[in-house]
Amino acid sequence: MRRMRRVKILATLGPASNDPSMIARLFKAGADVFRINMSHTSREDLAERVAAIRSVEEKFGRPIGILVDLQGPKLRIGTFEDGAAMLKEGDRFVLDDNDKPGNAKRVHLPHPEILAALEPGHTLLIDDGKIKLVCESVGKGKATTRVVVAGKISNRKGVSLPDTIIPVSAMTPKDRSDLEAAVNIGVDWIALSFVQRPEDLAEVRKVTRGQALVMAKIEKPQAVARLAEIIEASDGLMVARGDLGVEMPLERVPGIQKLITSAARAQGKPVVVATQMLESMITAPVPTRAEVSDVATAVFDGADAVMLSAESASGQYPIEAVATMNRIAEEIESDVTYNAIIHSLRTEPEATAADAIANAARSIAETLGLKAVIAWTSSGATGLRIARERPLTAVLTLTPNLTAARRLAIAWGVHALVTEDARNMDDMTDRACSMAREEGFAEIGQRVIVVAGIPFGRPGATNTIRIAYITPEGSA
Ligand code: PGA
Ligand code: MN
Repeated sequence: MRRMRRVKILATLGPASNDPSMIARLFKAGADVFRINMSHTSREDLAERVAAIRSVEEKFGRPIGILVDLQGPKLRIGTFEDGAAMLKEGDRFVLDDNDKPGNAKRVHLPHPEILAALEPGHTLLIDDGKIKLVCESVGKGKATTRVVVAGKISNRKGVSLPDTIIPVSAMTPKDRSDLEAAVNIGVDWIALSFVQRPEDLAEVRKVTRGQALVMAKIEKPQAVARLAEIIEASDGLMVARGDLGVEMPLERVPGIQKLITSAARAQGKPVVVATQMLESMITAPVPTRAEVSDVATAVFDGADAVMLSAESASGQYPIEAVATMNRIAEEIESDVTYNAIIHSLRTEPEATAADAIANAARSIAETLGLKAVIAWTSSGATGLRIARERPLTAVLTLTPNLTAARRLAIAWGVHALVTEDARNMDDMTDRACSMAREEGFAEIGQRVIVVAGIPFGRPGATNTIRIAYITPEGSA
């Protein structure tokens, strides 16, 4: 089974799609990686979901990635006497450490660390930015604000603090136990919400210890400000446009999306563009023109993956949403402008043997019009360095390591296959050629390029490049 596009599709599971038969249908329609959102999933359900995905993987014989998204420190206000209160523009409104129900003058903010970190001039956005408060003064256990954007404020609404560095860990106790459960169950990627600094990722790594890759969700201005360090500290990035568009002016999001996508591409770290890509398909079987353009932009930018959230998790048309994304991606990638655009966004390889070989493999394959670049990779790292080149030629990776193949399910253009390690040089080319042929990437008489590290089975030693003809026996 082969995808006819390079960009990957991430589908979030939820009430509309948790059923094992739906997971199979979503996979068939084009989902390469499934996202399990721990904001809405119990640990028992996590185990059930993972088992269902693994059985679909088994059934189709294709590696499928699983990404577990940790809720992160989503901050919320307390409750109100009447469930809600109306705030008027210009009113004073106090947030304090008193857990009595609130009213139009005050409400409990059950996060002492925010009350301590707020400073006059800082903005507070309540309920996805529907209400905007500006801090005027701070006292012990309280902050007095002025209402700038008025409206109804109600029980336990979320609070965003675009200006305040909150001195808390990016993981709540719930995140920590969700993370441990996800690592124990053997998921492939962990996404961390509301990352503020590179240390947040280091904290996750103390638990994952290499057993899962770690993705930073960029959804706070603080993370945008330290993007380079955060990319360095993570294995992948998510442009989490939902919360990003709450914490920053919406019109800044497209530019930041381009910035994150290009910076992640330059480092060879998989980057996912997320949220509201086909939002109207939650309730309609067809997307809007603007949504099609939005998906197209991410594809033209060379993002590794595009993501569906509510569209596949709780919408009325999950299968149609995946199929629509698949169709848009296929069409954009065959557009006459696509190759030139993808090419123009390439950056120079790093001065390493792996990058020099990835770059050379792409260049040789494109110059000679070869059918595929096939890389033997044990950890998957070589696969990512080749994907970083965004070759016009198909990319296959061969690995004895199922986990590596699953991790690569998110990477741009990579068709990952699991097979035992090569025994010698002839086996390396023979098996690469016959697998490329079996999978429909090349025919007898056509040529491919094979990349490997010799001696076999030693990670991080990519040092060999070979052009081979596909023959009925294997290669020549
Ligand atoms: P969420 O993250 O769906 O977990 O909020 C994505 C986003 O904020 O865009
Ligand atoms: Mn978010």
